[in-house]
Amino acid sequence: MLFKNILTLFIILLLNASANSQDRINLQLDWLHQFQFAGYYIAKEKGYYSDNNLDVNIKEFNYNLNLLENVLENDNTYSVGKSSLIIDRLQGHKVVLLNAIYQNSPMVLLSLKKSNIKSINDFKSKKIMLTSDARSAASINSMIKSEGIKTNEINFIPHSFKLDDLISGKTDLMGSYLSNEPYILKNKGIEYDIFNPKDYGFDFYGGILFTSQKELKNNPIRVKKFTEATLKGWAYAFENIEETAKLIYNKYNTQNKSLKSLIYEAKVLKKLSKYNEGILGQIDKKKILEMKRLYLVLGFKKNVDFEIEDFIYNKKDFFLNATERKFLKSKNFTLISNSKNMPYSYKINNQLDGIELDYWRLLENKLNKNFNIIEYPPSEKILSAIQTNDRMFRVNYNKNSVDLQKTSLSKPLTNISMAIATDNNTNLITDLSLIKNKKIALLEKTSIFYSLKKNYPHIEFIQIDNLNKAFSMIEDKEIFGVIHNIFSLSYNIIKKKNNHIKISGTLPYTMEIRLSTKKENQTAIDILNKVIDQFNQDEKDMIEHKYQLVLYQEINDYSWIYKYIAPLFIIIIIILIINTKMRKEIKKRKIAEKALIDYANKDSLTKVFNRRKIEKIMTNEIKKAKNNDSIFSIIFLDIDDFKAINDTQGHIKGDHVLVSISKLVSKHIRSTDYIGRWGGEEFIVILPNTNKDEAEKVAQFLKELIINKDLKIGKTLTSSFGVTEYKNNDTKADIIKRADKAMYFVKENGKNDIKVL
Ligand code: GH3
Ligand code: MG
Ligand code: MG
Repeated sequence: MLFKNILTLFIILLLNASANSQDRINLQLDWLHQFQFAGYYIAKEKGYYSDNNLDVNIKEFNYNLNLLENVLENDNTYSVGKSSLIIDRLQGHKVVLLNAIYQNSPMVLLSLKKSNIKSINDFKSKKIMLTSDARSAASINSMIKSEGIKTNEINFIPHSFKLDDLISGKTDLMGSYLSNEPYILKNKGIEYDIFNPKDYGFDFYGGILFTSQKELKNNPIRVKKFTEATLKGWAYAFENIEETAKLIYNKYNTQNKSLKSLIYEAKVLKKLSKYNEGILGQIDKKKILEMKRLYLVLGFKKNVDFEIEDFIYNKKDFFLNATERKFLKSKNFTLISNSKNMPYSYKINNQLDGIELDYWRLLENKLNKNFNIIEYPPSEKILSAIQTNDRMFRVNYNKNSVDLQKTSLSKPLTNISMAIATDNNTNLITDLSLIKNKKIALLEKTSIFYSLKKNYPHIEFIQIDNLNKAFSMIEDKEIFGVIHNIFSLSYNIIKKKNNHIKISGTLPYTMEIRLSTKKENQTAIDILNKVIDQFNQDEKDMIEHKYQLVLYQEINDYSWIYKYIAPLFIIIIIILIINTKMRKEIKKRKIAEKALIDYANKDSLTKVFNRRKIEKIMTNEIKKAKNNDSIFSIIFLDIDDFKAINDTQGHIKGDHVLVSISKLVSKHIRSTDYIGRWGGEEFIVILPNTNKDEAEKVAQFLKELIINKDLKIGKTLTSSFGVTEYKNNDTKADIIKRADKAMYFVKENGKNDIKVL
């Protein structure tokens, strides 16, 4: 009896244990417990994690820990980190960014007002306290470097994590969090200055959740669940700041923070998260690429490049459904490949190689499953070895050649340009419609045959079954040229060393390469299509550029090139080759260099000057006015009821409006005037050598311009304007204050007007 009871109890316990079996995850924070990580605590305490069968262990930062190694070396591990992860990725560390809670990094440098550090230039030979990790947190680095200061001109010292060291002067500047230290100093009545990378144009992400690529590959569902539950936690935390602060105060208060300071922190961080703008957690690929370029320009080293798609977690990553997963698991995928279709499939060293094989391998790689390849026609031996769960595929180069009742085709793996080859003496062909009354041959009766016929009625298109025949017909002047895909054409010209024929141009048509299989394997096609959707241009370029080089290597007798081959053909080959990484790199670098200058001076959304640059210009204008006894005016422009656009039409639309208004104003002011974005929907226009009466006219003009602009928001947009001119002994702050006051006067008196003060 006892035994039976114990057994039952044991079984119950066992069942319970398995029912509750949860995935255990370690989440490593990059600092001590505080509001900075509120979303994670909420997701845990409110059960968002456990609802998803996740048991999350949240760990505080400790000084001996390397966040990157921790994630790479331990399974089931996630971590919060900084933008410097981009540098880590460039150095080859395989991490993936899941989301970024802070759209602007909270990291700033603090100095005491009494130390009289007014600008970055004053940092020279000063002591700056930073953690080694913060030093690599390149936003601060970039801010310093962008002002032309070299890091060796600065005395970096290790962070003591004691604010007293700043107060007592042990360090001149201290790496701090906008949401923490300023509050403490304020409470102590100590005046301070903040150097915020954002004000210098470097608005890097902060609070980035990341994990290893291995984790994403092995547990994509877990990654998805964890990120979703986390974001849900963050949304709750920002919606319920007080409740969340209390939770942290009671349960996670290792730093002994006051409830008030936690709430202060929350408010600062909520702003940085842009939660109210509906972009919680969002990572913008373009912004990451810009940051990457900046890091390179700033001298950070690159060992490897990365695909943005592999670096940023994209929830749209393909997810197979249950049927597809089962299919993939239980069936073998085999490609039957022709060995005589250079450069698409051919045999080298007794192995099949070529573009179609490379695409097959790319699919294999992405699906993380071993695929097979056999040569066409398959031998008896191979045919007899084929099993019931083997699924056969072929590559299709002409959609019209199959019976779609019996065959399933995948989406195109890639599109290859069609080109025209002609006699050596023909000029470059840029447009087929310039060719009249000539015969042009095509290899297969693809749909392009009919489309060509229709679009170029003055050309007679004929069909020929092989390229060699077409080439001899060109030489015998029976036809003008032959249209075929560019790779096969190049290959055949080179292979035969045919010095009478050249490629004279490419056409606005492509050849689509697809996989085909029996209709019953539709599930396989569904799976492959999901993966094909994820191919990106770089992956395709990588494969196709390789074959441009293969083609080039076919030309081993170089004297032949010099002697016979038409100069244009050489140019085409050279273009094909240059069109590889190098050109891309040069372009990237140029863009990056410009980006650095723009970053420091321009607003990233609207591309007009940022606040910092506008202030610089104003300082300059004041100096000029003083020296020459001249005058200038400014217009303060604030869009009316802008919030309503965000609220009713969404934040993206709001952004569009800001961009349109910026463009509109930029276009209509004089080339000597300046426009900058002062804040959210506030702009300042600086008008040199202009008095306030003239400035009022400009404001009047801008006011009408904006009202009459169709912004596709279903209503007219109005703005309020404050205008003022420089008065003797005005400081920058004085002028801005006056213009702002004038603008507010308009706001309080019904908006959509101009006030001059
Ligand atoms: P008022 O007529 O009194 O000026 O009202 P308003 O709604 O224009 O001004 P308010 O200051 O109340 O709101 C400004 C809004 O601008 C709030 C904020 O969400 C939005 N905003 C600030 N920066 C951006 C941005 O970069 N993009 C978008 N879409 N909205 C922004
Ligand atoms: Mg405003
Ligand atoms: Mg407004």
